[in-house]
Amino acid sequence: MKQKTKPKVITTDPVCGKQINRNKAHIAIEYKGLDYLLCCPQCQSEFEKRPEKYVGN
Ligand SMILES: [Zn+2]
Repeated sequence: MKQKTKPKVITTDPVCGKQINRNKAHIAIEYKGLDYLLCCPQCQSEFEKRPEKYVGN
């Protein structure tokens, strides 16, 4: 029995921890091949300053 996994609709802003709906994505950023959604330009610039702080390993 195979079960298809739905893509996650709710994701978390790695900078501020807010939950974000992918369908209403605000800012999407790609880092090391993964995409991250951010709620606002402040979080975006914060992420861009220190991405490694927010993505973990
Ligand atoms: Zn945010």
